[in-house]
Amino acid sequence: MGDRIASVRLGHYAVPLAFAVSDAKVATGRQRPLTHIDVLTCEITTTDGLTGLGFSYTTRAGCRAQFAHAKEVAPNLLGEDPSDIGRIYERLLWAGASVGRSGVATQALAAIDVALWDVKAKRAGLPLAKLLGAHRDSVRVYNTSGGYLQAPIEEVKERAAQSLKDGIGGIKIKVGQPDMRADLRRLAAVREHIGDGTPLMVDANQQWDRPSALRFGRVAEEFGLVWIEEPLDAYDAEGHARLAATLDTPIATGEMLTSVPDLVRLIDLRGADFLQPDVPRVGGITPYLRIAALADHAHLQVAPHFVMEIHVHLAAAYPRDSWVEHIEWLSPLFAERLTIEDGRMRVPDRPGLGLTLAGDAAKWRLDDIEIR
Ligand SMILES: [Mg+2]
Repeated sequence: MGDRIASVRLGHYAVPLAFAVSDAKVATGRQRPLTHIDVLTCEITTTDGLTGLGFSYTTRAGCRAQFAHAKEVAPNLLGEDPSDIGRIYERLLWAGASVGRSGVATQALAAIDVALWDVKAKRAGLPLAKLLGAHRDSVRVYNTSGGYLQAPIEEVKERAAQSLKDGIGGIKIKVGQPDMRADLRRLAAVREHIGDGTPLMVDANQQWDRPSALRFGRVAEEFGLVWIEEPLDAYDAEGHARLAATLDTPIATGEMLTSVPDLVRLIDLRGADFLQPDVPRVGGITPYLRIAALADHAHLQVAPHFVMEIHVHLAAAYPRDSWVEHIEWLSPLFAERLTIEDGRMRVPDRPGLGLTLAGDAAKWRLDDIEIR
């Protein structure tokens, strides 16, 4: 009869950050500083004794809802062939059809979907990147976590230098403060500190209106940025497209979008030079692969958002050399560490995602349930 799913274990963890961070949304009073990441984990065990680990996440509210939804649909997995990911995903979608195909509903499925891909790659004895069809064994990596707005410029410079010393290949800093001149001063200071040859990006976290974004973009051309990220509201695909067509500096966006159709619209309108899909936010690896295929067809570059632990595999399997985002916030949750050298992150050579939960992860667990 073949292998079958025997049990599913779901967990909700709140992983604290070493220090609270603030981006433009905090600087303008829309959000509070970020102090921890909420993670929904899914561990699948099969009758053959294989195990898979997947996860989804939220910054701030939403993870309790993800956990509740996953718990409600998970009984549909029992007795299924774990290799039939397409059929299982559709079944889970239909189980929750009433709450739609985006946002919390599909983010809950993402943890399950990633766990199923992990099982599949482990069965093949391959790292996930190789199961998908890798183009390379390492991907370009840049650091984000050192460049937030609450940090004084001297601290941002120090952290940037440390990242480069650690082998990371690029630096991103946050912008989008109420006073644009303050952004430009920080940008100039970091550019001078890391030198003209080091890849540098900025991220405005949706802070500007169209005229402000254009003004910033024109002034910033001289800094030779790899990209300007989320200059506008995440859903302003037309505005992003106009900026991308007007500026020499590439535009990056897409991290806040939570469904395939939302990202397809961005691709169709050419709203991003660098598309930034996020596996947990779009509902898992299964929908992500559709987005990646369309992005490649449109000749776009891809720089997936956050969760480097998953995205290192997806970026390695994308035809064009991609960037992954170095944010170490989830590292305490996992026993393994990713290898970074010469500006690149190496794809782990362990089967699957190459991840296991750390022995002491339970101290951040808020909830868990086993379904069998
Ligand atoms: Mg961003």
